[in-house]
Amino acid sequence: MKKILILTARTGEGENVVGAHLRRALEHLGSQEARVEVLDLFDSCYGRFDALLVRGFRSIGALGDFNGLARVRDALRDVLRSQEPDIVISTCALYGLFLADIYRGGRTRDFTLISLVLETALDDSPWPRIPSDYFTVTNEAMAGELMAAGVAEEKIKVLGFPVQPSFVKKEPEADLPDLAHGERPRILYLINSARKKAPKLLDRLLEHPEWDVTICAEGDEDMEQMARARAATAPDRCDVLAEGRNLPRLLRRHHVVISRAETGLVQEAIAARCPLVTPKIGSKIEEMAISLLTRANAGVRAEKPREVTDWLERAFRDGGRLAALWRKNLEPLGQPDGAVNFARFVLEQAVPSTIVPIPELRALPAPVMNGKADLAVMARRLRRLPKKLLLCDLHTHTTWSDGKLTIPEIVDFYGQRGFDCLCITDHLCDPKRLLGRLVNLTGLVIPPGELADYFEAIEREKKRAWAKYDLMLMTGVEFNKDGYTAKTSTHLLGVDLKQPIDPSLDLKSLIAEIHAQGALAIASHPHEMKSHWGKDTLYLWEHVEEYAPLLDAWEVANRDDIFNPVGLRKLPFIASSDFHKPKHIHSWKTVLYCEKEAEAIKHCIRVNRDVSLTLYRDHRFGLEEHPLPLPALEDLAEKSG
Ligand code: ZN
Ligand code: ZN
Repeated sequence: MKKILILTARTGEGENVVGAHLRRALEHLGSQEARVEVLDLFDSCYGRFDALLVRGFRSIGALGDFNGLARVRDALRDVLRSQEPDIVISTCALYGLFLADIYRGGRTRDFTLISLVLETALDDSPWPRIPSDYFTVTNEAMAGELMAAGVAEEKIKVLGFPVQPSFVKKEPEADLPDLAHGERPRILYLINSARKKAPKLLDRLLEHPEWDVTICAEGDEDMEQMARARAATAPDRCDVLAEGRNLPRLLRRHHVVISRAETGLVQEAIAARCPLVTPKIGSKIEEMAISLLTRANAGVRAEKPREVTDWLERAFRDGGRLAALWRKNLEPLGQPDGAVNFARFVLEQAVPSTIVPIPELRALPAPVMNGKADLAVMARRLRRLPKKLLLCDLHTHTTWSDGKLTIPEIVDFYGQRGFDCLCITDHLCDPKRLLGRLVNLTGLVIPPGELADYFEAIEREKKRAWAKYDLMLMTGVEFNKDGYTAKTSTHLLGVDLKQPIDPSLDLKSLIAEIHAQGALAIASHPHEMKSHWGKDTLYLWEHVEEYAPLLDAWEVANRDDIFNPVGLRKLPFIASSDFHKPKHIHSWKTVLYCEKEAEAIKHCIRVNRDVSLTLYRDHRFGLEEHPLPLPALEDLAEKSG
């Protein structure tokens, strides 16, 4: 009896579905000789996947220091210990990294590790670095990429994508839908993306009395209701299903499917030879999946509802010539027996083999996950990034406190200027201090009850900042502990915070709490300021001996001020704009030389090497405010000429 453990995860590659397919194929082929277990350790450790991303992945450290993901690694270790599987099949590169970590330093394992690579392109995923005995891939191109990345040829098996084993039963040609013989076009619409556009698209589909439409709401009750209301207007040619049971059958019975381009779905559409029209590309993985189809002229992407119906009209015209061509082009792409091939291969494996994994993986900077990214993207980011000069501003304010720009506006403002890293640090007052209580009433600080909303508001912008500007957006807070005098007042920055912190904690607990989140604790304008309208905040400087060991850095410059004593004392430093409104962009900034990656940036500041300050003058803003008229470029040219 072979014990086979299949490790899956929900990452957009269809791993979970694949796990179920494999189990079915394995049990079918080898019911006597195999016991199969399918486990999604991410799901069992973290429940909701989103939560995992937010809490775990953003803080994943260099390899060997998995921080938030340690739970998954430890769970994996426990499972291996207690179940002693003969064969482990991993559908997600992260499991491979965990295994490399568990068995690092030459520790041996006594199971065969098979990496089931579902991606259709390697891109820069860590698969080649996984100490796997075999890599099974879905196509030759992927095999080539793995070899090019240094994986030995004999380790790579091209077995096709493990779609549902039921696809193996080939339908007789006559049963396939055929428009040439006067059949009504049948469209399967899976509402699994672009929900906002769904009503419009449905209306457009139903505008064609000659089409039959099957709608599947994929368990979304609102969508189902919306679809049912519309279907009632055309009951003879529109069918609504709550969930897509028996998808292979549905796909086989329709001339075209409208759906998001999840890898699993795309592969099933290929196996069923049902051309795909996708109204939305949600990720890079989907991008790759759909391009597999568009390159082969076996599917299209159509963003607007109108484009979708335009394509369908084209496809069904002239006895469905285009639809037939798509269908024909799908045939060579598919390997309906992928799961069975795989099951055969697995069962052929001798057990157990003892393998020494690669000695050590190199340490990597942690990836920054912005919002809902997926595992594959995260894994790609695990690879080493190049070091470069990074222009950073880690002390800025928005309309959440007394700043003039909203969060999206400040992101655009800094993004357009090519900044690499921006931390928003709105004021938060200590409600235990009288002044704090008073200021809390002014609306010029984060309202005490809305701290979580503030965190969420920044979180929402992170993805856009990164996608649009390559700008790394961090969440921060400026903790204001204001007394009646400068010497009793402190402003403390928490940079790259993961969650709210109680502002009434005493200073040292506050710093400890900041550090517990992997964030930086930085003394804000610790010395006398000339340019500031407010009161100086000298408490930390007055107690520098006590606090220097606790803080990660001190502002050596803030806006227009530069604090010589801080520099002379050779304390770790940064420089910030303390940005409140656009003209504050003209101010001191930090320039780092490190990887563009949150953990690397924080590390660079902590060790305070390759850190410099720069006085930033912007060419784009405020020229009209310049006291002197600027010479025209032509005049300058004349003079120099
Ligand atoms: Zn301040
Ligand atoms: Zn400030």
